[in-house]
Amino acid sequence: MSTAQSPDGTAAPAGLLYERDTAALSVLLPALADLYRDLHQHPELSGQEHRTAGVLAGALEELPYEVHTGIGGTGIVALLHNGPGPTVLLRADTDALPVEERTGLPYASTEHASGQDGNPVPVMHACGHDMHAAALIGAAHLLAGSRDAWSGTLMLVLQPAEETLQGARAMVADGLYERFGTPDIVLGQHVGPLPAGCVGFREGAVMAGVESAAITLYGRGGHGARPESTIDPVLLAAHVVVRLQGVVAREVTPGETAVLTVGRLQAGTKDNIVPDHAEIGLTLRAHSDRTRALLHDAVERIVQAEAAASNSPRPPDVRWLMDGPALVCDPEATRVTAAAVAARIGRDRILPMPAVTASEDVGILAQAAGVPCVYWFWGGPEADTVWAALADGTHDQLPANHSSEFAPALHPTLETGVHNLVAAALAWLGRARRT
Ligand code: ZN
Ligand code: ZN
Repeated sequence: MSTAQSPDGTAAPAGLLYERDTAALSVLLPALADLYRDLHQHPELSGQEHRTAGVLAGALEELPYEVHTGIGGTGIVALLHNGPGPTVLLRADTDALPVEERTGLPYASTEHASGQDGNPVPVMHACGHDMHAAALIGAAHLLAGSRDAWSGTLMLVLQPAEETLQGARAMVADGLYERFGTPDIVLGQHVGPLPAGCVGFREGAVMAGVESAAITLYGRGGHGARPESTIDPVLLAAHVVVRLQGVVAREVTPGETAVLTVGRLQAGTKDNIVPDHAEIGLTLRAHSDRTRALLHDAVERIVQAEAAASNSPRPPDVRWLMDGPALVCDPEATRVTAAAVAARIGRDRILPMPAVTASEDVGILAQAAGVPCVYWFWGGPEADTVWAALADGTHDQLPANHSSEFAPALHPTLETGVHNLVAAALAWLGRARRT
């Protein structure tokens, strides 16, 4: 694994650059806020980010970047070659979710699109990827405008289909690194329920590895009045759901992060009919590969055993649908990046970040390149609201990512997101040679 070298002590002076970038950003900000509102009003589901990609590519084409579209579907790669030095990959994701927006914002989405089953669903940027993309475009402006202060190659990646954990893999499979070069470091950020203006870093495991499964359990259908003539898949499914709750409680080492959630349980059509099958959909999460394998194996074992215990007429079908690795941030690279962001936005705005059980596919971009990944969270909701909720223990009840009420404050979230990316990129790019 290659390791990007920190140009320790060789970076351009943060103070002067910060002043120059702040002035440039104040000019740019109205247009950047318009871009954010436009993306927010026109969200697109994973893999369908066609309009979004067009808007973002258009914004980058106004700048001195070499812009490539259609990478791994609707992905964009924008390159700025600026002399010798490291290649720094800045990544933002672009997709939205099938959520009906209830923020009441003047720029709330009213969009609908074709969902997983082909039926129309409401669509909302409920995870804030519109903020990620707008912040990256802002950073693209600032870094292009400060080319005299750094040397190397900037590789901007606007990645589709993060919510389905397919986009990073699709871009890598489409020759991301063979066609555009391999970066020395992968940097990215996510807006979340920290106070707006604050940034949270964590070293090591930051987000969980994930797998999801669709399970079909078989019984023998019949009249609800004659249970003796049936094998009841509803009771079988109920046993499976209850038994699965024991895995985290009784099999996982206390203190290890592990989640096993049954999010879907479907069977039957009428009160007095015993159906012939039942379906379960579940997700499992863990920060370590060992615990993730334990959860996976336990699901297989319990489903098979409960089907046998119910005298099921057919073995169950267990289809593993989606998986993604845990996101592990390189500790040393995280310290270097966090120090650079702190120097730019102020040490008092840097918070420790707890590990979370949500998942992300940005780590796939780093794994495929064999380089370190640094990924941080920055605050979206109004700072006063979040601090008050943290103080009275109601932080969990604030609308967070994937909520229909998730509404990052446009300012200072957007400016902070831009400064984070610029500071992080400059921490890893080389200093321009002075002649
Ligand atoms: Zn999300
Ligand atoms: Zn997200």
